[in-house]
Amino acid sequence: MALIVQKYGGTSVGSVERIEAVADKAVAARAKGDDLVIVVSAMSGETNRLIALAKEITDAPSAREMDVLMSTGEQVTIALLSIALEKRGCSARSYTGAQVHILTDSAHNKARIRDIDAARVRADLEAGRVVVIAGFQGVDQHGNITTLGRGGSDTTAVAMAAALGAHECQIFTDVDGVYTTDPRVEPKARKLDRITFEEMLEMASLGSKVLQIRSVEFAGKYSVPLRVLSSFEEGEGTLITFEDEQMEEAKISGIAFTRDEAKLTILGVPDKPGVAHEILGPIAEANIEVDMIVQNIAEDATTDFTFTVQRNDFDKAKRILRAVADRLGAREILGDDSIGKISLVGVGMRSHAGIASQMFQALAKESINIRMISTSEIKISVVVDVKYLELGVRALHDAFGLAEQPGAKNG
Ligand code: ADP
Ligand code: ASP
Ligand code: MG
Repeated sequence: MALIVQKYGGTSVGSVERIEAVADKAVAARAKGDDLVIVVSAMSGETNRLIALAKEITDAPSAREMDVLMSTGEQVTIALLSIALEKRGCSARSYTGAQVHILTDSAHNKARIRDIDAARVRADLEAGRVVVIAGFQGVDQHGNITTLGRGGSDTTAVAMAAALGAHECQIFTDVDGVYTTDPRVEPKARKLDRITFEEMLEMASLGSKVLQIRSVEFAGKYSVPLRVLSSFEEGEGTLITFEDEQMEEAKISGIAFTRDEAKLTILGVPDKPGVAHEILGPIAEANIEVDMIVQNIAEDATTDFTFTVQRNDFDKAKRILRAVADRLGAREILGDDSIGKISLVGVGMRSHAGIASQMFQALAKESINIRMISTSEIKISVVVDVKYLELGVRALHDAFGLAEQPGAKNG
């Protein structure tokens, strides 16, 4: 008998029929003798609908009240799923995040889980009940409702699995596993049977939203066996594993991308100590996350400085930069808010030279201009015009033979 934590995303609980299908799956798992904790998202589109309601009132609703609002989506699905389970004669109980003491910090809209008191869940499991928990939400030490950031139900599930010492955490979604890239952009994308935590972490942080990045961090930290599978069809899905010798010997395991980037350049700043800090300090103080940073070689005692931010921080960052430019006597500010980022990810990159040049060649062949480049041990990212993003993803998928099993072109 095993203890399994299952998580069902928005599409998987998108209608009453879908919720009943989840209940059927749960009943089948119970019949095998497994103990079951189920974490659910809001019905698909619901979180966006709630956000839009608030935005009808004001552009700047308070983060605290947004959490109270957004957390209601998941409360609907836990109740409906428990009702569906009980209809099937399966004893079940639903709980909000606060009720099972998912204690978080107070960073509304992006709270981090600090602790879970799993006693209540354990008692229910011992009494033979299926426990249904609202994803994406918690409570801070003052009793305020918090949420964990978009896609946060993944993290609730993994954290719950860690707290309970579950045998496996299964993330059920609308694709049957983790693919070499988003199958909605590249239909030739191949499902991976396994991927390492390290690679999954890079893929998630570079834009593959199939798992929220914090869920992968959590799984790595607490060694939670994690699997991504389809709620619509049978299959083994993708197992996220620690690197071992059996891993596929691929140089590249996947391509991640983001469409929502923006780039800012400040031209003609003095080339002297402290300038980078003077530029980026105020940006950081405004809680704007900076991703890539490039500084040119100085020619005439002045230099140019470019960095990227998320598109929805673009206007704010530009305003801040304007003030900085005046202070530093910079020549000009340039901005571009229609760029995207494509990243190649693979632990095999460590031991293979020439991946970068192969990447640049493939993009050149499609006449895609590279605006910025950044590399780390297991990834290479390029910034391109967003209109060429999908073309670039497909060109790279092809150039690195990702549609084929490793050992073929990519081996
Ligand atoms: P859920 O609502 O179940 O949490 P998400 O929409 O958050 O589902 O995540 C699943 C989606 O992630 C898929 O529909 C797919 O379009 C997207 N996706 C992006 N990159 C990948 C990838 N490498 N492999 C699989 N799916 C991916
Ligand atoms: N419902 C939340 C969202 O749409 C959390 C989740 O689905 O994981 O982001
Ligand atoms: Mg998700």
